[in-house]
Amino acid sequence: MSITTAVDAFDIRLTDTPTPDADREAALAAPKFGTAFSDHMARVSWTASDGWHDRRVEKYGPLQLDPATAVLHYAQEIFEGLKAYRHADGSVWTFRPEANAERFQRSAHRLALPPLSTEDFVGSIEALVRTDVDWIPGGEETSLYLRPFMYASEAFLGVRPSLEVEYLVIASPVGPYFAGGVKPVSIWVAQDYHRAGAGGTGAAKCGGNYAASLLPQQEAYEKGCEQVCFLDATTNTALDELGGMNVFVVRADGTVETPELTGSILEGVTRSSILQLLADRGHAVVEKRILLDELLAGLADGSVSEVFACGTAAVITPIGRLAGEGFDVTIGGGVAGEVTTAIRDQLTDIQYGRAADRYGWLH
Ligand code: PMP
Repeated sequence: MSITTAVDAFDIRLTDTPTPDADREAALAAPKFGTAFSDHMARVSWTASDGWHDRRVEKYGPLQLDPATAVLHYAQEIFEGLKAYRHADGSVWTFRPEANAERFQRSAHRLALPPLSTEDFVGSIEALVRTDVDWIPGGEETSLYLRPFMYASEAFLGVRPSLEVEYLVIASPVGPYFAGGVKPVSIWVAQDYHRAGAGGTGAAKCGGNYAASLLPQQEAYEKGCEQVCFLDATTNTALDELGGMNVFVVRADGTVETPELTGSILEGVTRSSILQLLADRGHAVVEKRILLDELLAGLADGSVSEVFACGTAAVITPIGRLAGEGFDVTIGGGVAGEVTTAIRDQLTDIQYGRAADRYGWLH
């Protein structure tokens, strides 16, 4: 997709100590999520008096923070996650970055941070990806994971929006999420903890939501499950989402359902893309309240055939087991269902350039 970006506004200040080729190639050969980082980072500064300024790409490195830096105390912080994919012809593409830019603006609004324009957001990504293009792996289902984030950088202990803010993008090569084929995950449904309440920050991508999900996630591990699913905080009966993924339910009649956006769910870019792909494949798609009890009844009587989770990191993950206080159900006999597999293939084929991008999603 062609988007007006501010890429040319970024001053490229190359590192004088680039990673040796052999070390970079070793990092690209076996990338482990979020452990290796490319040589540079994009950066833009903001002050209440001057607005956004000093757009640059600079050497990746530690940030120096005053102990009174506001983000360390009141968590005024937001982030995003998207990927750059290398196609077979060597060209490099991002997937719907303007959708991440818009979500970043909504998150900024909720956290009383200054909005960053779509031009600057996409421009910063383009500038970093162009600079560190050698860090994009080329293996099957590998990519360069991009992490834009913004934080309150003013050294001040009062509880009010920061008058100084930093925006950065860092990049990490990532391997296939499922080495050796897509595997269904097990989910623990948290009934004692919630990640977000009505009027809270659930629809924003802010660090605090993830901090709140860590203890329930630990509980899920203790119960023998890999991920946690949260219920709505008002009634504790309807599915919200997982700690880092949205959730979909496929009915035996081909109808596909996903929890409606209530303000406490993060609107996933993968979620919106899947809604579009499913509708165009002829599925009835319904955004609604999905009650846990109805889902369990549907799994028991066979009217629900597949359940899957989705997000940028794993694309689409089949859910093979759903457990919680008083229930433990297996779904799909340990393999991904038909609709789950078809939609995963269709989406990854677009992202990796194996199929035509008829939606104009690639940039
Ligand atoms: N929900 C939460 C809580 C998430 O952290 C994510 C990952 N960003 C998602 C859903 C999926 O969003 P996306 O498809 O944009 O990655």
